[in-house]
Amino acid sequence: MKKGIHTKKELDKLEKKLSYSPKLIWDEINENEKNRVMAFGNAYKKFLDESKTEREAVISIRRMAEQKGFINDASSHASKPMIKIFHEKSIALVRPGKAPLDKGIRLIVSHIDAPRLDLKQRPLYEEVDLAFFKTHYYGGIKKFQWLARPLAVHGRIIKTDGDVVDIAMGEKESDPVFTILDLLPHLAAKVQTNKKLDEAFVGEKLNLIVGSLPLGNEKQKERFRLSILNQLHEMYGLVEEDFISAELEVVPAERARDVGWDRSLIGAYGQDDRASAYTSLMAILDTNEPARTTVVLFVDKEEIGSDGATSAKSKFLESVIYDIIAKSKKTPSAMDAYKLLGSARALSADVNGALDPDYQEVHEKRNAARIGYGVCLTKFTGHRGKVGANDANAEYLGWIRRLLNKNKVIWQTGELGKVDEGGGGTVAKFLAIYGMEIIDYGPPLLSMHSPFEITHKGDIYMTYKGFKAFLNDD
Ligand code: MN
Ligand code: MN
Repeated sequence: MKKGIHTKKELDKLEKKLSYSPKLIWDEINENEKNRVMAFGNAYKKFLDESKTEREAVISIRRMAEQKGFINDASSHASKPMIKIFHEKSIALVRPGKAPLDKGIRLIVSHIDAPRLDLKQRPLYEEVDLAFFKTHYYGGIKKFQWLARPLAVHGRIIKTDGDVVDIAMGEKESDPVFTILDLLPHLAAKVQTNKKLDEAFVGEKLNLIVGSLPLGNEKQKERFRLSILNQLHEMYGLVEEDFISAELEVVPAERARDVGWDRSLIGAYGQDDRASAYTSLMAILDTNEPARTTVVLFVDKEEIGSDGATSAKSKFLESVIYDIIAKSKKTPSAMDAYKLLGSARALSADVNGALDPDYQEVHEKRNAARIGYGVCLTKFTGHRGKVGANDANAEYLGWIRRLLNKNKVIWQTGELGKVDEGGGGTVAKFLAIYGMEIIDYGPPLLSMHSPFEITHKGDIYMTYKGFKAFLNDD
């Protein structure tokens, strides 16, 4: 090329050769793959409907894994794919690789809890001749989004005698639903409209309406409350004290739906992070003989800081690693376990907030993830100066983008909002402590943490396709 003087054609060629820009999935895939994208989205919606709580997600994952020959027994033969479940709220799937363990393992970790409202331990009361349940929200929610919409109650109750009752009320067409009342706009000026959002909507007013039939006549004290207690006793054999040993979660009662005339998007509750859970699940189920031993882990409690026995900060992963080593006939030592964890190449599988068309000002557009541009790699999360971020290594990013490119996975990069505005975290840093290579990876999401989160079917498919490439790579 002549120095200084370039034709338009030369410059276009140069631009193509030197510049990087993310690619829209629809511009890159053929008709066949487009059909696979749409079919994958349909199966994903079914998983979302069956898995509205962490416990239900564990049941779905276990069932689907068992159908593919995984065995829920840590003492099963080393060649068999294994399931390990922890307190019915987190679950690990392990598929042995062709290579020996000292070649390292592949690990994917997503979370299966989602923002919601939990019932308080003494939830039931009555006010103005209506019966209610009191709630305490779980994770980061915009409270007003939970008002005036149909809600379902899912969860587990341990009764006085120790018997277990599992409920999911509000899901079947014939079920009643529940709701949180909102104030009519005519009267809202002083108490809502003219206030700041977090003062206008307060947690203590997120009370679930559960009934209005009285029991007995007006001489009976708290007869609306008593009526609900009586109903719950007839239906489930419950007494009020049983609420003390219950975990009841209030979630949106709607099902996952296609969004848009062209059905290209999916709207559903809990896609953060069951989008990553489902895609990583399908990737390990569809990977028959991985080169390396693969572990796909689904954890709980991410939305409240990853504390607690079933969270990413617990020793669950370590115990899975010990099981894997024990299967290779060695007596596992801490040194073996740390060596194996340190050798892992890992994906912290979680969604990233996509560029919001109506609030583009909170993003830095050049670096924000966009709906429809494929799975998103997020080098660092954290807030204001990367505080609390894992910050993946350049070497690892180099490897991962080569892997995705080689396997024709459409990908992009993202961050969590503008430098001085954004913030957030994932489980990546809790796994990085073992010295493993790890990066945040997952589909972009609109309306994150709302009762109706939006994903793009192409992004969901590319997340799966990338996971499969990651697990299969040798
Ligand atoms: Mn998440
Ligand atoms: Mn989240």
